[in-house]
Amino acid sequence: MFDYLIVGAGFAGSVLAERLANGSNKKVLICDKRPHIAGNAYDFYNDAGILIHKYGPHIFHTNSKEVFDYLSNFTDWREYQHRVLACVDGMQLPIPINLDTINKLYGLNLTAFEVEDFFAKIAEPIENIRTSEDVVVSKVGRELYQKFFRNYTRKQWGLDPSELDASVTARVPTRTNRDDRYFTDTYQAMPKYGFTRMFEKILDSPNIKIMLNCDYQEIVREIPFKKMIYTGPVDSFFNYVYGKLPYRSLEFKHETHDMEQFQAAPVVNYPNEQAYTRITEFKYLTGQEHKKTSIVYEFPQAEGDPYYPIPRKENAEIYAKYKALADAREDVHFVGRLATYKYYNMDQIVAQSLTEYSKIIGLKRKEASVYVAPKDKIIIPVSIKQPLNLNVPAPKTNGNGKNVVNNLG
Ligand SMILES: Cc1cc2nc3c(=O)[nH]c(=O)nc-3n(C[C@H](O)[C@H](O)[C@H](O)COP(=O)(O)OP(=O)(O)OC[C@H]3O[C@@H](n4cnc5c(N)ncnc54)[C@H](O)[C@@H]3O)c2cc1C
Repeated sequence: MFDYLIVGAGFAGSVLAERLANGSNKKVLICDKRPHIAGNAYDFYNDAGILIHKYGPHIFHTNSKEVFDYLSNFTDWREYQHRVLACVDGMQLPIPINLDTINKLYGLNLTAFEVEDFFAKIAEPIENIRTSEDVVVSKVGRELYQKFFRNYTRKQWGLDPSELDASVTARVPTRTNRDDRYFTDTYQAMPKYGFTRMFEKILDSPNIKIMLNCDYQEIVREIPFKKMIYTGPVDSFFNYVYGKLPYRSLEFKHETHDMEQFQAAPVVNYPNEQAYTRITEFKYLTGQEHKKTSIVYEFPQAEGDPYYPIPRKENAEIYAKYKALADAREDVHFVGRLATYKYYNMDQIVAQSLTEYSKIIGLKRKEASVYVAPKDKIIIPVSIKQPLNLNVPAPKTNGNGKNVVNNLG
């Protein structure tokens, strides 16, 4: 009998599987309905031999030393500072808006002090900030709102910013200096050999069995287990008794081009004319060297895989009903973005999972993330570039015939 059936092999399910298996010697079965581990963070080598992210670009960043240290048990890192340009009025300009954005957009030559006055003059004072529109307009004024934010938000959410909670755009960072980093977190790095390789290490324990291509409903009555950890959609678990929780989805269009570099930055946002919101070029993220390059376009849409919970009051009310059902289930722990109907970054999900583990085991939160490799495990240093035998294709060679993995970082 398994101690735990874990539904979903993304960050939430995999971190809990690792902690329970290695930290508490529990027998764990983890299943995922997709044909791979790593959830939305899954990456793989495409036919051209380029490492790409199947479900859109995933960039790791955190301020939590604990989360970073915990994940460092399973991967080496490649330092990476993310940068984004926005295509506005035929120019590619830094976003978040900084000194260079304003100077290039308006053909000015302002200093850091002068741009502070500039922002102060264009900001529209709004007394009661309720919507996303209010948040942006009160910070950068109506013109920049229209050029950079309004249409992007409409595409992304299918709603006008005036219809969306202020929380969607709770903070609009504007910079009076030339800092063009997208994130300012203390730790900004990519797993050196990719996310999937990191997940292979996380799940590499004699106490963990993995079933892929497997919806938990196919096995839940067949395989005995004591408790469940559920990281799938909470409404589906309860057979949609209170209706479907609305999500925004995305269609990803992947392309490979016969050129070394496709665009001037890792991500270029297209707020206005195009149907897609952004284009990502993966080699910037992974540091891979290759004669060709792979990119992905993101087209927001209403139907499809659930990606972004839609943060509106009426949806929060439906979720509150599901949460009451979930809280009443002592035999099931609901963890992760789908089970708690909230958008979380990867590091937040790792933190949430470590907290859940500490509650399950009755440990202090600080002690919960201490990783000790299982006794009978042969420890393979993370720097060894041998693929483990999970459902992940072996690395392919690139156009130069070199092993692609060796070219990362
Ligand atoms: C386009 C996009 C870009 C993102 N970029 C970033 C980024 O740059 N940085 C960042 O920190 N975060 C990013 N995120 C957020 C990140 O994807 C999440 O934080 C992370 O995936 C959450 O992990 P999870 O385990 O909760 O969910 P998931 O990764 O979604 O894992 C849940 C798993 O459960 C499985 N499952 C569901 N139902 C069942 C079932 N019935 N039976 C079996 N299995 C089931 C699913 O197949 C899935 O694999 C991004 C998200 C999106 C959508």
